[in-house]
Amino acid sequence: MSDKAVAESVRSDSTSSPEVSIVVPVFNEEATLRHLASELFRVLADESFELILVNDGSKDRTGDILVELAQTHPEVVVVELARNFGQHPAVLAGFSVMRGKYVVTLDADLQNPPEEIPRLLEQLRGGHDVVGSVRENRQDPWMRKQVSSLVNTVTTASMGVGMRDYGCMLRGYSREVAEEIVELAEQAAFIPALAMMLASNPVEIEVRHYERESGESKYSPLRLMRLGFDLITGFSLLPIQMVSLAGLLIAIAGGALSALLFARRIILGPESEGLFTLFAILFAFMGVLLLSVGLVGEYVGRIYAEVRRRPIYRIREVISQSVESDDGDGPP
Ligand code: UDP
Ligand code: MG
Repeated sequence: MSDKAVAESVRSDSTSSPEVSIVVPVFNEEATLRHLASELFRVLADESFELILVNDGSKDRTGDILVELAQTHPEVVVVELARNFGQHPAVLAGFSVMRGKYVVTLDADLQNPPEEIPRLLEQLRGGHDVVGSVRENRQDPWMRKQVSSLVNTVTTASMGVGMRDYGCMLRGYSREVAEEIVELAEQAAFIPALAMMLASNPVEIEVRHYERESGESKYSPLRLMRLGFDLITGFSLLPIQMVSLAGLLIAIAGGALSALLFARRIILGPESEGLFTLFAILFAFMGVLLLSVGLVGEYVGRIYAEVRRRPIYRIREVISQSVESDDGDGPP
């Protein structure tokens, strides 16, 4: 069955659609899952909701716990991905089966407190189609925060519109926006930025943020760098244009310096100790050159990935008390 077919079968099998879909990507979170679920059930007790837990190829006991949750709670829908695809593809897979009018995403590690969900829903019901959130005194390592702030600045600059915190995944979307995100998703999808592009009435609220309850962050520095690059090159040509601009300025400066040296040679005679100056200039040029090549590579790589059109995610199975379905590919 194709991904669309899976999504359709899940949706049409519903006797009555819930109003709110909660989507949580889960990767090796056996320690927090039960706690997360009970918190969500407590906070959402008065809502008509479904809880979509997307198992992103976990290697620990996460899968068993998820099946157990689906068997004991009619609100739970478990989406099993074929392997580990990453946080954002996992959220996309969740979007593809959601039935609610509103959708809220959050992390499984309880860094985003579920108690904030009603405040997000309030904004969604108030007519905002994208609700972002800013982490009040964020509990993450210093380095992570620096990277995030750089990413926020560059994204805001390249997209024109800004949100203060693109990294926080406790977010709300209207169904229309979520569906369009799935439709538009590219190989390197970064959901908050895609949503901003589609939003007609976005808003950002402050939410609390806690330290990870247990386990480790699933983002290594390399993964983080990739995500940052995805975000930056995915939305604009600004970085490559900056490099071109830098190249132009350096070329002008280089030309001026050569003219100066030439004049000096005529007036004062040839210099002989200029060797290290030359090295310095050479290294500066080489740095810019390597960066440019890297950036061009980044764009070419993205085009390559798009052209291959491999699925972003692959759903192996959807488990819930009301649906039995299997096998689906991500969008082509
Ligand atoms: N996650 C995922 N697939 C991955 C990496 C992470 O589904 O390949 C999930 C993870 O289980 C968690 C969320 O994405 O629910 C955020 O991950 P993490 O807490 O490691 O990121 P951080 O808080 O360090 O940004
Ligand atoms: Mg986390």
